[in-house]
Amino acid sequence: MKMALLHVSSLNVGYNSLNVLTDVSLEVEAKTQVVLLGANGSGKTTLLKSLIGLLPVRSGHILLDGQDIVRWDPSRRVRAGLAYLSETGVIASLSVEDNLNIGGYYLPRGLRRQQMHSLYQQLPMLYEKRKNAASSLSGGQRKILAFAKVLMGQPRLILMDEPSAGLAPVMVNEMVQILNTYRSHGPAFLIAEQNIKFLVGAKYVYILDNGQIRFQGTPEDLDADAHIKAAYFGLA
Ligand code: ATP
Repeated sequence: MKMALLHVSSLNVGYNSLNVLTDVSLEVEAKTQVVLLGANGSGKTTLLKSLIGLLPVRSGHILLDGQDIVRWDPSRRVRAGLAYLSETGVIASLSVEDNLNIGGYYLPRGLRRQQMHSLYQQLPMLYEKRKNAASSLSGGQRKILAFAKVLMGQPRLILMDEPSAGLAPVMVNEMVQILNTYRSHGPAFLIAEQNIKFLVGAKYVYILDNGQIRFQGTPEDLDADAHIKAAYFGLA
């Protein structure tokens, strides 16, 4: 059997005496989008932070390309192709272009230019604002910049923490659309969300509830599961 790009098994994570994640297992295949749905406090951020190495795990394994990275520090995980996209991904005082340059810091210069060029083509707003300070962008534009900054590093798997947080519905739709353009090519995504709009391009869905995976399947499986839909989304 082909090994997934990311293979997480029986992960247990907590803070002091509090156990937050219990035996969490999941997989993300290369170039696919996987959505991790969960309400506030279900443990999504805790999971993403432990995957990137910002939180120690109590037990379990995190395999990237079959190699256990569970004891690696965050910078080594980033060099291996993981990226964590949080809400505070941009440096407000720097220009849009300088933020992108920082994102591509590890790339050789020629490749960095090329990557910036292709991002400017995909996200023309960034080209128009390239000389402006990131602080002058709207909240939604800043999120797009944070996303582009992470893409500059050409990661293989992007861990996205609630891209919809704080966004107006129209910007949420734009974010969904942007993600859709990366469907089936480009990096893989693990998207932690509460908003089911992000299921559009997803290959697979996990529902995290109180630190445990309660459902896994395709978006179609989820749609067909009246019990789960009623329990988690109030949809009959
Ligand atoms: P949200 O969408 O609100 O960020 P989440 O699904 O990302 O929610 P987490 O932030 O991972 O959830 O929180 C899961 C649980 O861990 C919650 O009960 C929270 O109170 C607890 N928790 C989170 N961070 C800490 C911390 N630094 N110390 C102690 N407990 C924490």
